[in-house]
Amino acid sequence: MLPNFDYVRPKSVRAAVAQLSADGARAHAGGTDLLGCLRERILPTGRLVSLNDLRELQGVSETAEGGLRIGALTTLSALAEHPVVRKRYAGLAQAASEVGSPQLRNQGTIGGNLCQKPRCWYYRADFTCLRKGGGSCFAVDGENQFHCIFGGGGVCFIVHPSDTAPALAAFNATVRVVGPKGVRNVPLDKFFVLPEVDVQRETVLARGELVTEIRIPPPGPGTRSSYRKVRARRAWDFALAGVALALRFEGRRVVDGRVVLSGAAPVPWSSTEAEQALRGRELTAEVVAAAAKAATAGAEPLEKNGYKIPLIQGMIADELTRMSA
Ligand SMILES: Cc1cc2nc3c(=O)[nH]c(=O)nc-3n(C[C@H](O)[C@H](O)[C@H](O)COP(=O)(O)OP(=O)(O)OC[C@H]3O[C@@H](n4cnc5c(N)ncnc54)[C@H](O)[C@@H]3O)c2cc1C
Repeated sequence: MLPNFDYVRPKSVRAAVAQLSADGARAHAGGTDLLGCLRERILPTGRLVSLNDLRELQGVSETAEGGLRIGALTTLSALAEHPVVRKRYAGLAQAASEVGSPQLRNQGTIGGNLCQKPRCWYYRADFTCLRKGGGSCFAVDGENQFHCIFGGGGVCFIVHPSDTAPALAAFNATVRVVGPKGVRNVPLDKFFVLPEVDVQRETVLARGELVTEIRIPPPGPGTRSSYRKVRARRAWDFALAGVALALRFEGRRVVDGRVVLSGAAPVPWSSTEAEQALRGRELTAEVVAAAAKAATAGAEPLEKNGYKIPLIQGMIADELTRMSA
Protein backbone atom coordinates (compact mmCIF):
# COMPACT_ATOMS: atom_id res chain seq x y z
CA MET A 1 0.00 0.00 0.00
CA LEU A 2 1.17 3.52 -0.75
CA PRO A 3 1.98 5.75 2.24
CA ASN A 4 0.16 9.07 2.68
CA PHE A 5 1.65 12.12 0.97
CA ASP A 6 0.68 15.53 -0.39
CA TYR A 7 0.49 15.81 -4.16
CA VAL A 8 1.18 19.09 -5.92
CA ARG A 9 1.23 20.04 -9.62
CA PRO A 10 3.28 23.22 -10.04
CA LYS A 11 2.85 25.18 -13.29
CA SER A 12 6.41 26.49 -13.62
CA VAL A 13 9.93 25.15 -13.11
CA ARG A 14 10.48 27.83 -10.48
CA ALA A 15 7.44 26.71 -8.51
CA ALA A 16 8.52 23.07 -8.89
CA VAL A 17 11.96 23.89 -7.48
CA ALA A 18 10.33 25.65 -4.52
CA GLN A 19 8.11 22.60 -3.88
CA LEU A 20 11.01 20.17 -4.28
CA SER A 21 13.08 22.07 -1.74
CA ALA A 22 10.86 20.80 1.10
CA ASP A 23 12.22 18.00 3.26
CA GLY A 24 11.51 14.59 1.65
CA ALA A 25 9.79 16.01 -1.46
CA ARG A 26 10.13 13.85 -4.59
CA ALA A 27 9.72 14.61 -8.29
CA HIS A 28 7.02 12.58 -10.03
CA ALA A 29 7.32 12.14 -13.81
CA GLY A 30 5.86 8.92 -15.25
CA GLY A 31 5.84 7.23 -11.84
CA THR A 32 6.88 3.80 -13.19
CA ASP A 33 9.82 3.56 -10.80
CA LEU A 34 8.79 6.04 -8.13
CA LEU A 35 5.48 4.44 -7.17
CA GLY A 36 7.14 1.05 -6.67
CA CYS A 37 9.76 2.70 -4.43
CA LEU A 38 7.03 4.35 -2.37
CA ARG A 39 5.07 1.12 -2.07
CA GLU A 40 8.19 -0.76 -1.02
CA ARG A 41 8.95 2.03 1.53
CA ILE A 42 12.40 2.62 0.03
CA LEU A 43 11.86 6.35 -0.33
CA PRO A 44 10.26 8.21 2.55
CA THR A 45 8.21 11.12 1.26
CA GLY A 46 5.74 13.67 2.53
CA ARG A 47 5.16 15.34 -0.83
CA LEU A 48 5.11 14.30 -4.46
CA VAL A 49 5.78 17.09 -6.93
CA SER A 50 4.29 16.28 -10.31
CA LEU A 51 6.37 17.58 -13.22
CA ASN A 52 3.61 16.85 -15.70
CA ASP A 53 2.35 20.43 -16.12
CA LEU A 54 5.82 21.77 -16.96
CA ARG A 55 5.56 22.34 -20.69
CA GLU A 56 9.21 23.39 -21.05
CA LEU A 57 10.23 19.84 -20.04
CA GLN A 58 8.42 18.36 -23.07
CA GLY A 59 9.61 17.44 -26.53
CA VAL A 60 12.63 16.77 -28.68
CA SER A 61 14.10 19.45 -30.94
CA GLU A 62 17.23 20.13 -32.95
CA THR A 63 19.57 22.80 -31.59
CA ALA A 64 21.09 25.67 -33.58
CA GLU A 65 24.46 23.83 -33.50
CA GLY A 66 22.92 20.74 -35.10
CA GLY A 67 22.64 18.74 -31.89
CA LEU A 68 19.58 17.60 -29.96
CA ARG A 69 17.62 18.91 -26.99
CA ILE A 70 15.51 16.30 -25.20
CA GLY A 71 13.03 17.57 -22.61
CA ALA A 72 13.16 15.55 -19.38
CA LEU A 73 9.48 14.57 -19.71
CA THR A 74 9.94 13.04 -23.17
CA THR A 75 8.64 9.50 -23.00
CA LEU A 76 10.91 6.63 -23.97
CA SER A 77 8.49 5.69 -26.78
CA ALA A 78 8.64 9.21 -28.21
CA LEU A 79 12.42 9.10 -28.06
CA ALA A 80 12.67 5.64 -29.63
CA GLU A 81 10.37 6.69 -32.47
CA HIS A 82 11.71 10.17 -33.14
CA PRO A 83 12.96 10.29 -36.77
CA VAL A 84 16.05 12.43 -36.02
CA VAL A 85 17.02 10.24 -33.07
CA ARG A 86 16.61 7.10 -35.16
CA LYS A 87 18.64 8.50 -38.02
CA ARG A 88 21.50 10.32 -36.28
CA TYR A 89 21.56 8.81 -32.78
CA ALA A 90 20.54 5.24 -33.59
CA GLY A 91 22.17 3.83 -30.42
CA LEU A 92 19.99 6.07 -28.27
CA ALA A 93 16.81 5.09 -30.13
CA GLN A 94 17.75 1.43 -29.66
CA ALA A 95 18.46 1.93 -25.95
CA ALA A 96 15.10 3.64 -25.39
CA SER A 97 13.32 0.84 -27.25
CA GLU A 98 15.02 -1.77 -25.01
CA VAL A 99 13.52 -0.37 -21.77
CA GLY A 100 10.93 -2.59 -20.09
CA SER A 101 7.70 -3.11 -22.02
CA PRO A 102 5.64 -0.91 -24.41
CA GLN A 103 3.47 0.23 -21.47
CA LEU A 104 6.54 1.30 -19.47
CA ARG A 105 8.01 3.11 -22.47
CA ASN A 106 4.74 4.96 -23.08
CA GLN A 107 4.61 6.13 -19.48
CA GLY A 108 8.29 6.34 -18.46
CA THR A 109 10.30 9.48 -19.21
CA ILE A 110 13.96 10.05 -20.03
CA GLY A 111 14.42 12.20 -16.89
CA GLY A 112 12.99 9.43 -14.72
CA ASN A 113 15.10 6.87 -16.53
CA LEU A 114 18.29 8.69 -15.53
CA CYS A 115 17.12 9.30 -11.94
CA GLN A 116 15.58 5.87 -11.18
CA LYS A 117 16.69 4.00 -8.06
CA PRO A 118 18.85 0.83 -8.18
CA ARG A 119 17.29 -2.61 -8.63
CA CYS A 120 19.56 -4.52 -6.22
CA TRP A 121 17.22 -7.02 -4.56
CA TYR A 122 18.67 -6.35 -1.11
CA TYR A 123 18.10 -2.61 -1.59
CA ARG A 124 14.55 -3.17 -2.86
CA ALA A 125 13.65 -5.68 -0.15
CA ASP A 126 13.53 -5.44 3.60
CA PHE A 127 17.30 -5.25 4.19
CA THR A 128 18.85 -2.21 5.81
CA CYS A 129 21.86 -2.12 3.54
CA LEU A 130 24.54 0.57 3.34
CA ARG A 131 22.58 2.50 0.70
CA LYS A 132 19.62 2.65 3.12
CA GLY A 133 21.78 3.80 6.03
CA GLY A 134 22.69 0.35 7.38
CA GLY A 135 26.10 -1.11 8.14
CA SER A 136 26.87 -3.53 5.31
CA CYS A 137 26.31 -4.57 1.71
CA PHE A 138 24.47 -7.90 1.67
CA ALA A 139 25.54 -8.65 -1.92
CA VAL A 140 29.20 -9.15 -0.98
CA ASP A 141 28.60 -12.62 0.49
CA GLY A 142 25.08 -13.09 -0.82
CA GLU A 143 23.21 -13.62 -4.08
CA ASN A 144 25.40 -11.42 -6.23
CA GLN A 145 24.82 -12.82 -9.72
CA PHE A 146 23.29 -9.56 -10.99
CA HIS A 147 25.70 -7.18 -9.30
CA CYS A 148 28.60 -5.13 -10.60
CA ILE A 149 32.06 -6.19 -11.73
CA PHE A 150 33.47 -2.65 -11.86
CA GLY A 151 33.25 0.36 -9.54
CA GLY A 152 31.86 -1.30 -6.40
CA GLY A 153 34.92 -0.02 -4.55
CA GLY A 154 34.43 -2.61 -1.82
CA VAL A 155 31.40 -0.61 -0.68
CA CYS A 156 28.17 -1.29 -2.62
CA PHE A 157 27.73 -3.52 -5.67
CA ILE A 158 24.62 -2.20 -7.42
CA VAL A 159 24.53 -1.87 -11.20
CA HIS A 160 23.08 1.25 -12.75
CA PRO A 161 19.68 0.18 -14.08
CA SER A 162 19.24 2.67 -16.93
CA ASP A 163 19.47 1.60 -20.58
CA THR A 164 19.49 5.13 -21.96
CA ALA A 165 22.25 6.52 -19.69
CA PRO A 166 25.11 4.56 -21.38
CA ALA A 167 23.82 5.58 -24.83
CA LEU A 168 23.61 9.24 -23.79
CA ALA A 169 27.11 9.01 -22.30
CA ALA A 170 28.41 7.53 -25.56
CA PHE A 171 27.12 10.65 -27.34
CA ASN A 172 28.74 12.95 -24.73
CA ALA A 173 25.38 14.30 -23.52
CA THR A 174 24.99 17.04 -20.92
CA VAL A 175 22.20 17.22 -18.33
CA ARG A 176 20.61 20.59 -17.57
CA VAL A 177 19.78 20.86 -13.89
CA VAL A 178 17.70 23.64 -12.32
CA GLY A 179 17.59 24.20 -8.59
CA PRO A 180 17.38 26.79 -5.81
CA LYS A 181 20.86 28.08 -6.70
CA GLY A 182 20.14 28.42 -10.43
CA VAL A 183 21.03 26.40 -13.51
CA ARG A 184 23.99 24.09 -14.03
CA ASN A 185 24.95 21.93 -16.98
CA VAL A 186 26.44 18.64 -15.90
CA PRO A 187 28.21 16.33 -18.38
CA LEU A 188 26.50 12.95 -18.18
CA ASP A 189 29.84 11.37 -17.26
CA LYS A 190 29.79 13.46 -14.08
CA PHE A 191 26.06 13.14 -13.29
CA PHE A 192 26.23 9.75 -11.53
CA VAL A 193 27.92 9.08 -8.19
CA LEU A 194 30.07 6.06 -7.35
CA PRO A 195 29.46 4.33 -3.98
CA GLU A 196 32.94 5.21 -2.76
CA VAL A 197 32.04 8.90 -3.17
CA ASP A 198 28.60 8.70 -1.53
CA VAL A 199 26.87 5.37 -1.04
CA GLN A 200 23.45 6.93 -0.39
CA ARG A 201 22.99 8.82 -3.62
CA GLU A 202 23.03 7.81 -7.28
CA THR A 203 23.23 11.26 -8.90
CA VAL A 204 24.70 14.67 -8.12
CA LEU A 205 21.21 16.19 -7.77
CA ALA A 206 20.95 18.23 -4.56
CA ARG A 207 17.77 19.05 -2.63
CA GLY A 208 15.33 21.04 -4.77
CA GLU A 209 17.09 20.27 -8.06
CA LEU A 210 15.46 18.69 -11.08
CA VAL A 211 16.58 17.66 -14.55
CA THR A 212 14.90 19.84 -17.15
CA GLU A 213 16.56 18.63 -20.36
CA ILE A 214 19.41 16.68 -21.91
CA ARG A 215 21.54 18.08 -24.70
CA ILE A 216 23.58 16.03 -27.15
CA PRO A 217 26.15 17.58 -29.48
CA PRO A 218 25.92 16.81 -33.21
CA PRO A 219 27.55 13.46 -33.96
CA GLY A 220 30.74 13.93 -36.01
CA PRO A 221 30.69 12.88 -39.68
CA GLY A 222 31.05 9.13 -40.11
CA THR A 223 29.56 8.30 -36.68
CA ARG A 224 27.94 4.90 -36.28
CA SER A 225 26.25 3.91 -33.05
CA SER A 226 24.40 1.03 -31.43
CA TYR A 227 23.11 -0.27 -28.10
CA ARG A 228 23.17 -3.98 -27.34
CA LYS A 229 21.48 -5.39 -24.24
CA VAL A 230 21.55 -8.95 -22.95
CA ARG A 231 18.86 -9.96 -20.46
CA ALA A 232 17.99 -13.20 -18.72
CA ARG A 233 14.63 -13.60 -20.49
CA ARG A 234 12.93 -12.34 -23.63
CA ALA A 235 10.14 -10.50 -21.77
CA TRP A 236 10.87 -7.17 -20.04
CA ASP A 237 14.00 -7.26 -17.93
CA PHE A 238 16.93 -5.13 -16.86
CA ALA A 239 20.33 -5.63 -18.51
CA LEU A 240 22.56 -8.47 -17.34
CA ALA A 241 25.02 -6.46 -19.38
CA GLY A 242 24.84 -4.02 -22.25
CA VAL A 243 27.07 -1.85 -24.38
CA ALA A 244 26.55 1.50 -26.05
CA LEU A 245 28.91 2.25 -28.93
CA ALA A 246 29.31 5.58 -30.73
CA LEU A 247 32.32 5.37 -33.04
CA ARG A 248 33.45 7.87 -35.65
CA PHE A 249 34.88 6.33 -38.81
CA GLU A 250 37.04 7.75 -41.58
CA GLY A 251 36.72 5.18 -44.31
CA ARG A 252 37.20 1.86 -42.53
CA ARG A 253 39.30 3.33 -39.72
CA VAL A 254 37.89 4.24 -36.29
CA VAL A 255 39.04 7.80 -35.59
CA ASP A 256 37.63 8.02 -32.08
CA GLY A 257 34.54 7.12 -30.09
CA ARG A 258 33.02 5.86 -26.90
CA VAL A 259 32.36 2.40 -25.48
CA VAL A 260 30.04 2.55 -22.44
CA LEU A 261 28.81 -0.48 -20.51
CA SER A 262 25.52 -1.05 -18.73
CA GLY A 263 24.77 -3.74 -16.16
CA ALA A 264 28.45 -3.69 -15.23
CA ALA A 265 28.95 -0.91 -12.64
CA PRO A 266 27.04 1.40 -10.28
CA VAL A 267 27.28 4.09 -13.00
CA PRO A 268 27.35 3.85 -16.81
CA TRP A 269 30.90 2.52 -17.19
CA SER A 270 33.15 4.09 -19.83
CA SER A 271 35.69 1.60 -21.09
CA THR A 272 38.62 3.84 -21.91
CA GLU A 273 40.72 0.70 -22.47
CA ALA A 274 38.40 -0.52 -25.25
CA GLU A 275 38.21 2.99 -26.74
CA GLN A 276 41.99 3.14 -26.83
CA ALA A 277 42.22 -0.31 -28.44
CA LEU A 278 39.95 0.92 -31.26
CA ARG A 279 41.35 4.40 -31.87
CA GLY A 280 43.10 4.76 -35.22
CA ARG A 281 42.46 1.12 -36.18
CA GLU A 282 40.43 -0.74 -38.79
CA LEU A 283 38.00 -3.24 -37.30
CA THR A 284 39.92 -6.38 -38.25
CA ALA A 285 39.21 -9.60 -36.34
CA GLU A 286 42.36 -9.01 -34.24
CA VAL A 287 41.39 -5.43 -33.34
CA VAL A 288 37.83 -6.50 -32.47
CA ALA A 289 39.14 -9.29 -30.21
CA ALA A 290 41.65 -6.96 -28.53
CA ALA A 291 39.01 -4.26 -27.89
CA ALA A 292 36.54 -6.81 -26.49
CA LYS A 293 39.20 -8.15 -24.14
CA ALA A 294 40.31 -4.64 -23.14
CA ALA A 295 36.71 -3.79 -22.14
CA THR A 296 36.92 -6.08 -19.11
CA ALA A 297 40.44 -5.14 -18.00
CA GLY A 298 40.42 -4.47 -14.28
CA ALA A 299 37.05 -6.21 -13.68
CA GLU A 300 36.59 -7.55 -10.13
CA PRO A 301 33.77 -10.09 -10.25
CA LEU A 302 32.07 -11.33 -7.09
CA GLU A 303 31.51 -15.02 -6.41
CA LYS A 304 28.49 -15.47 -8.72
CA ASN A 305 28.84 -12.88 -11.49
CA GLY A 306 32.08 -13.88 -13.22
CA TYR A 307 29.95 -14.85 -16.27
CA LYS A 308 29.66 -11.13 -17.02
CA ILE A 309 33.26 -11.05 -18.28
CA PRO A 310 32.81 -13.42 -21.27
CA LEU A 311 29.30 -12.00 -21.76
CA ILE A 312 30.60 -8.44 -22.15
CA GLN A 313 33.50 -9.54 -24.32
CA GLY A 314 31.22 -11.56 -26.64
CA MET A 315 28.64 -8.78 -26.86
CA ILE A 316 31.25 -6.16 -27.80
CA ALA A 317 32.93 -8.46 -30.32
CA ASP A 318 29.52 -9.12 -31.94
CA GLU A 319 28.57 -5.45 -32.11
CA LEU A 320 31.94 -4.34 -33.51
CA THR A 321 31.86 -7.11 -36.11
CA ARG A 322 28.35 -6.06 -37.15
CA MET A 323 29.43 -2.41 -37.32
CA SER A 324 32.44 -3.24 -39.50
CA ALA A 325 30.37 -5.07 -42.13
C1 LIG B 1 8.65 -3.78 -14.51
C2 LIG B 1 9.65 -2.69 -14.78
C3 LIG B 1 10.63 -2.89 -15.75
C4 LIG B 1 11.56 -1.91 -16.04
N1 LIG B 1 12.52 -2.15 -16.99
C5 LIG B 1 13.47 -1.20 -17.25
C6 LIG B 1 14.49 -1.46 -18.21
O1 LIG B 1 14.56 -2.50 -18.84
N2 LIG B 1 15.42 -0.48 -18.40
C7 LIG B 1 15.39 0.70 -17.73
O2 LIG B 1 16.26 1.56 -17.98
N3 LIG B 1 14.42 0.97 -16.82
C8 LIG B 1 13.46 0.06 -16.56
N4 LIG B 1 12.46 0.31 -15.64
C9 LIG B 1 12.51 1.52 -14.83
C10 LIG B 1 11.55 2.68 -15.25
O3 LIG B 1 10.37 2.23 -15.75
C11 LIG B 1 12.20 3.58 -16.27
O4 LIG B 1 13.49 3.91 -15.85
C12 LIG B 1 11.42 4.87 -16.54
O5 LIG B 1 12.09 5.58 -17.58
C13 LIG B 1 11.33 5.79 -15.33
O6 LIG B 1 10.74 7.02 -15.76
P1 LIG B 1 9.50 7.64 -15.00
O7 LIG B 1 9.15 8.89 -15.74
O8 LIG B 1 8.40 6.67 -14.83
O9 LIG B 1 10.18 8.01 -13.61
P2 LIG B 1 9.51 8.18 -12.18
O10 LIG B 1 9.11 6.85 -11.67
O11 LIG B 1 8.48 9.26 -12.18
O12 LIG B 1 10.77 8.72 -11.38
C14 LIG B 1 11.89 7.88 -11.14
C15 LIG B 1 12.85 8.64 -10.20
O13 LIG B 1 13.40 9.77 -10.86
C16 LIG B 1 13.05 10.99 -10.19
N5 LIG B 1 12.75 11.94 -11.29
C17 LIG B 1 11.89 11.75 -12.31
N6 LIG B 1 11.98 12.76 -13.19
C18 LIG B 1 12.92 13.62 -12.69
C19 LIG B 1 13.48 14.85 -13.15
N7 LIG B 1 13.10 15.43 -14.31
N8 LIG B 1 14.42 15.47 -12.39
C20 LIG B 1 14.83 14.88 -11.22
N9 LIG B 1 14.36 13.71 -10.74
C21 LIG B 1 13.41 13.09 -11.48
C22 LIG B 1 11.86 10.65 -9.30
O14 LIG B 1 11.80 11.48 -8.16
C23 LIG B 1 12.15 9.19 -8.96
O15 LIG B 1 13.05 9.10 -7.87
C24 LIG B 1 11.50 -0.67 -15.35
C25 LIG B 1 10.51 -0.47 -14.38
C26 LIG B 1 9.59 -1.46 -14.08
C27 LIG B 1 8.55 -1.20 -13.05
